[in-house]
Amino acid sequence: MADGPPHAPWSARWRALIRDVPDFPQPGIVFRDITPLLWDSAALRAANDALAEAGRTLGATVVAGIEARGFLFGVPVAERLRVPFVPLRKAGKLPGGRASEQYALEYGTAVLEIHREPSIAGQRVLLVDDVLATGGTAAAAVRLVRQLGAEPAGCAFLIELTALGGRAHLEVPVAALVAY
Ligand code: AMP
Repeated sequence: MADGPPHAPWSARWRALIRDVPDFPQPGIVFRDITPLLWDSAALRAANDALAEAGRTLGATVVAGIEARGFLFGVPVAERLRVPFVPLRKAGKLPGGRASEQYALEYGTAVLEIHREPSIAGQRVLLVDDVLATGGTAAAAVRLVRQLGAEPAGCAFLIELTALGGRAHLEVPVAALVAY
């Protein structure tokens, strides 16, 4: 391909495999359901290849996936890059010593946690999730890796909901395969 991103031939297929579910999980939200894309193994493989390419370009030495759907893409991306994977989990799930960051939800707050060991200090961490919406979750993930002395190399998402302006809250490079 002479122009456009390397994954351009896949964009239409990925988009066709993301199902819009109006008013889920609550009225007014259009939920972007990725389960049809998970069913299509060629499209899934191409998506993980493209996310891994973004991580390679950003020089990631560790991949951190955001619970839960960030795990679906984060682990295959880490495998492709042959670097460690670390899960960022919701509060109370990790058994070992951990660091945490709070972030705002529409109603109330939530917490993301990471194990302190093995240490990610000095690593370049690629943060992976399925959807970038307001950016609150990914911003907390960025703060979390910084708290442990690592450098956020960037964030990679399958989907970016551009109208919500999440990218502006991240202050790190952002890659997204499908934008709405
Ligand atoms: P945010 O913190 O607002 O960027 O929200 C990001 C998180 O919420 C991600 O982990 C997504 O999985 C989920 N999410 C937010 N909005 C949607 C949506 N419209 N469809 C599917 N997942 C969403």
